Amino acid sequence: MVDLRAQFATIEKEVRRAIDEVLATQTFVLGPQLEAFEQEMAQYCGRRFAVGVASGTDALALSLRACGVEPGDEVILPAFTFLATAGAVIAAGARPVFADSDPKTLNIDPQSVRSLVTPRTSCIIVVHLYGGAAEMEPLLELASRHGIVIIEDNAQSLGASLNGKKLGSFGACAATSFYPSKNLGAYGDAGMIFTDNEEIAERIARLRNHGQSGRYLNAEPGWNSRLDDIQAAVLRVKARHLDRWIAARRAHAARYNQRFAKLDGIITPASQPNSLHSYYLYTLQIAAERGNPGARRDHVARHLASRDIASSIFYPLPLHLQPAYASLGGKAGQLPVAERAAHEVLSLPLYPEMTNEQIDRVADSVIEVL
Ligand SMILES: *Cc1c(COP(=O)(O)O)cnc(C)c1O
Repeated sequence: MVDLRAQFATIEKEVRRAIDEVLATQTFVLGPQLEAFEQEMAQYCGRRFAVGVASGTDALALSLRACGVEPGDEVILPAFTFLATAGAVIAAGARPVFADSDPKTLNIDPQSVRSLVTPRTSCIIVVHLYGGAAEMEPLLELASRHGIVIIEDNAQSLGASLNGKKLGSFGACAATSFYPSKNLGAYGDAGMIFTDNEEIAERIARLRNHGQSGRYLNAEPGWNSRLDDIQAAVLRVKARHLDRWIAARRAHAARYNQRFAKLDGIITPASQPNSLHSYYLYTLQIAAERGNPGARRDHVARHLASRDIASSIFYPLPLHLQPAYASLGGKAGQLPVAERAAHEVLSLPLYPEMTNEQIDRVADSVIEVL
């Protein structure tokens, strides 16, 4: 799906130099590389503050806590997302309430969200799935009318934008992930929170460091969720290439789209007007035959595999049907768009260093089997 070695070959010298610098100083935790990286990323996202943490999952969990989500609260999130979005809600002691998706973009459907709001709803987590913007306007309007906080899960959409504003700059907080395969990937685990609210930023900076407000002074219980300086140094180097890499992803996606334009029974990735997709994933929807959900999509995946081409399903089971959340009473048929998407989506290989020949070889194989 992603060839990280191809990318490393293009930046090896810069990365090794940056790591060597950290080794020379022997400053590994909460050091100058992290501080510089936080400032650079806040500026990149158009936000006042950025706080580095240990993972995207921690970034979500700490955002929920810092935004005042409390045990017993309800948090609305899409059913069609990665496990971590819901895991973070559980970590905050709150109750996940799963919303359905928009059939075109597969992002959280504002209509569905509206129907799920109760007096106990304190937060909506908006995921910009695959790197494409969710419909922010109606969600922001709904949230402000009900006094609900919006947190963006920006793990897949760093560098993407809507109406000229970077994704990650809409919610009270935005959480992102630097998992190695993400558009900006560390050489290990790392994450970050963006906000314009100084109080929230300070609280998260405390929480990630055992809740310390001074040396060994515990303002509130926290834990250890720090982004170390070696990862920050690597990420600073890679961040300088991010926009160029996203442009390459977009060009590759456009080439796939063009190749698939005349194909029946598939939907190529859709994005909102006035938005810029970051194409963390290039995901087709392959319409199922009646009574045979998933068969046609799985047939395409098997054909690609027989040609030594990777493909992957993000995500095969919506969260309301996961065993982990059975106690919440989710039922098959309850969120039809999310459930259909789970049978129809197939992500194709996409990374900046792909060549047109590689794109065409994948596209040829898809066209051949369909
Ligand atoms: C990757 C991802 C996360 C979690 O990030 P980690 O850094 O792996 O903890 C959360 N949400 C979404 C949508 C993701 O894609």
